[in-house]
Formats: sequence, structure tokens, C-alpha cells
Amino acid sequence: LTSSSYNIGEEEEKKFDLVVIGTGAAASTVAHKCRSAGWKVAVIDSRPFGGTCALRGCDPKKVLVGAAEVVDMNNRMKGKGIETNRVTAINWRDLMKFKRSFTEPVPESREKSFQKAGIVTFHGRASFTGSTGVKVGDSDSLEGRHILIATGAKPMKLNIPGEEYLIISDQFLELDKLQDRIVFVGGGYISFEFAHVAARAGVKAITIVHRGARPLENFDLDLVNMLVGRTRNLGINVLLQTEVKGIEKKKSSSSAGKKFIVNIALKDDGGKKEERSIDADIVVHGAGRNPEIEDLELEKAGIEYEKKGVKVNEHLQSISNPGVYAAGDCAASGGLPLTPIASYDGQIVADNLLEANKVAADYKGTPSVVFTIPPLASVGLSEENTRKMGLKFKTNYSSTSEWYSSRRINESHSGFKVLIEEGTDKILGAHLLGPHADEVINIFAMAIRLELRASDLRKALWSYPTNTSDITYML
Ligand SMILES: Cc1cc2nc3c(=O)[nH]c(=O)nc-3n(C[C@H](O)[C@H](O)[C@H](O)COP(=O)(O)OP(=O)(O)OC[C@H]3O[C@@H](n4cnc5c(N)ncnc54)[C@H](O)[C@@H]3O)c2cc1C
Repeated sequence: LTSSSYNIGEEEEKKFDLVVIGTGAAASTVAHKCRSAGWKVAVIDSRPFGGTCALRGCDPKKVLVGAAEVVDMNNRMKGKGIETNRVTAINWRDLMKFKRSFTEPVPESREKSFQKAGIVTFHGRASFTGSTGVKVGDSDSLEGRHILIATGAKPMKLNIPGEEYLIISDQFLELDKLQDRIVFVGGGYISFEFAHVAARAGVKAITIVHRGARPLENFDLDLVNMLVGRTRNLGINVLLQTEVKGIEKKKSSSSAGKKFIVNIALKDDGGKKEERSIDADIVVHGAGRNPEIEDLELEKAGIEYEKKGVKVNEHLQSISNPGVYAAGDCAASGGLPLTPIASYDGQIVADNLLEANKVAADYKGTPSVVFTIPPLASVGLSEENTRKMGLKFKTNYSSTSEWYSSRRINESHSGFKVLIEEGTDKILGAHLLGPHADEVINIFAMAIRLELRASDLRKALWSYPTNTSDITYML
């Protein structure tokens, strides 16, 4: 059923058990679960159906990372048994074509699967008209016994002159040609991941500009420092304690090719600033994302919100409008803005809708990964927070670049930090940098979520030689 094939003119038919705003991971989970229980459900999206992860986030990004891994492996193994007569290089156009083979089918297949399930689909911008009313653009007005806000996030406003010249991650993932000089504004995971891909694709002048002393703030500092070292060895200029003051477009034709000037201010330890500028062909916004809620007219429905999103209780229900729930990146739930959390939120909301607030969200053991090469991963408590909490724990920390697993593939930068509580032997946190850290972190995530002890993990038998089998030496 689409909004056009559905006779929305009739009062009765504008009424739904559930109106879902968004069609990403969070929205889709709730819509399908409630529809399976026999509810009358509508979904609305103003962009092609499918959400960020499948269309403009995780999935297309990791296709690019896959190609970059091939180049990096090739370079690392030169003189270690690998000889290439020709340079192994990324053909960006072909790679983008391959990427599109994943993204392009999504909107249609997502919409068809909604319709096959009997969910009514609407295209347009949604906003609230009252506590149970939602309008779609200027055409449709819907009533929901329940309403789910699952609108995701978007790049935050930076309020700097020339902000309009920035491209965002959506556009980076659509570039039909990579440029010679790229500046990334912000030292978060999106900048690091894209910079690592661009470096392997042959871009020579890449700069990451980060305001604070510490990039990738939610990851372990020692391992971040190792990754920054690896990143700089690739020729990527990582500028810390450096603020982007503004971006100018070069007008003069005498400086052909110099498209933008990024004005920056570097702070030294005494707080003194040195002003400089960098020439760039593209400037990419990698400075964080905010919940996409500001044009939903939440006030009209009495829905309270804050900077981190719609204010919800542990059932992911709005604290001020009980008919409304929020899930995924747009909810101030305490969960990380990641796809597995959006899907998990969706399950929690569906369960609570179908059986009166039966379950509470619990984000313990959420793994988080920076898909650089090598990847950086983290789960559970950081060393600083464990200390702040006054817990008694031991820290197992080491570089692993001399370990067999890294030497075998000539990876120069790798390491781990595992925090184990004294007395209980519980694993409090695990932090990994190195080949397959993105996979191995899942073992620690399971251990933390299921409250396994280090001694439980020691009992496991691992396949060998694998990065997972290295866990034995980390406990
Ligand atoms: C470049 C990039 C890389 C990422 N990589 C990873 C990764 O490797 N791993 C990971 O776990 N996470 C990653 N993420 C984060 C992940 O994509 C998100 O956490 C996840 O997609 C959030 O899902 P969601 O359902 O909350 O929202 P979304 O998937 O963002 O869906 C929200 C939908 O709501 C629609 N919408 C918004 N407002 C309105 C409105 N007013 N009316 C109608 N429709 C509206 C939007 O068009 C969108 O389709 C990445 C994100 C980006 C940007």
C-alpha cells in the first residue's frame, strides 16, 4: 500500500495504531514487529527509503574500506613475499559503481517489503500537528494511537564562515572523482575512516583538523596515539588543538585548482594561537552529528527534547507524551549512535508497544569501531572512567606489533588494553587496535554483556592462528 493507492481521504483510514517517522534500522524494526502483531502501521520518510546505514553510512563506507585494505595489504607485504609488477591502485569510478550495487537497490526493496507486509508508506517531510497528529508535507494528515520518532541524525551546524562550502559524509560517499587535496574538519571516526580510504586511493594531501588535544575521544588514549602514529605514517597530516576558523572560496583564476582556503588557528600549550591556512579541493564535515529533530515541531505534541535528542524513559517512551516513543540516533537514551543500537532500540520499543512497557533498554557491552586500517575498537569502560568510578582493577596493556598475528602481515601498529576487576575477575573494558580488531571486539562485547569473567574466557578453545586466539594473552 502506498499513500496514493490508499484512500487517505476517508477519516477512518487516516487513523493508525502506529505512525513511524523514518525508515532506517530503528523505524523498520518497530514497523514490521507491530505490523506482524496485526497493527495498522504507516511509515514516512522524506528521503529514499532505507536510512543512513544502508544508503549513506556503514554499508557503503565499508565497501570502500574493503578496497583500501587490499591496497594496504599489498603495500605492507612488498618485500615480504609480494611483488607487483604494476602498482595496485584504487579505481575510484569502478569502486563507486561497485558501491552503488549495494545502495541502489535498497529504497525500492525496503519500500516493497513494507508494502508486502501491509504497512502504508508515505514520502515527505513529517511534523507534528498535535499530541497524536502528524502531517506529511502539505498533503496528508495522519492520526497515530502511537507515534515513533526514528529520524536519525545529521551533521551538526558549525557556525563558521564558509560553512556552506563543506561537503558532508553523504556527498563524500557519492564523489565520482577523488580530489588531490582534502581537508577533514573534526577528528571523529568519520574523518579518520574516510582519510584512511583516501590515502590508499592515492590522495597525497590529506589533513585532519581537530579542535581538542585528543581525537577519537571515546576510544582508549594510548591506542588512539598509536593509530595517530600509523595515520601520520601514511602521510596524513593530523593537526590537533587546531580550530577551523572559516572556509573561503578562491576567486582568482591565477590560482587555478586552488578551490578553497581553510583558515585555521593552532593553539600551543600556553594557549597562544598561530593562524595559518590550507589549500583544499574539498573540505569534508567530520565534526559530529546531532539528532534530526528540529523541524518536527515537537512542541505541538508536548514532546520534551534536549541536545542529545528526544527525552525518553528507560522504555524509550517520551517523558512528556506517553503516546510517543523514540529510537535510534534521535533518542536521548544513553545508547551510542550506531546501527546495532538503532535496531536494538527498535526491538525494545516494539516490545513495549505490544506489551505495555514490558522491557527497559540496557546498553551494556556495546562495541564501537573505527574502520581505519588497522581498525580501532572499544567496548565497556575506559581506563579513565574505571578509575573515576573507584573500581579496583588491573590493566593489561601492551603493543602487539611484535606478536605473530601482526608480524605475519607486517602491521606496524597494533595493541590492546583490557581492564579486569580485581576480586570479581569481571571484564570491565576492552580496547583493541590491529588486524581484525573489529571482529575480535565482539568476543569481549559478548563477555561484558553476559557478565563473563576473564576465567570463563580462558576456558574457551580458539581456532589458531587467529587474532581471536590472541585473547588468551590479553587476560
Ligand atoms: C558516514 C557514516 C558512517 C557510519 N558508519 C557506521 C558504522 O560503521 N557502524 C555503525 O554501527 N554505525 C555507523 N554509522 C551510524 C549509523 O548509520 C546510524 O547510527 C544509524 O543509521 C541510525 O539509524 P536510525 O534508524 O536511528 O536513523 P537513520 O538510519 O538515520 O534513519 C532516519 C530516517 O529518518 C528520515 N527523516 C528524518 N527526519 C525526517 C522527517 N522530519 N520526516 C520524514 N523523514 C525524516 C531520514 O530521511 C532517514 O531516512 C555511520 C553513520 C555515518 C553518517
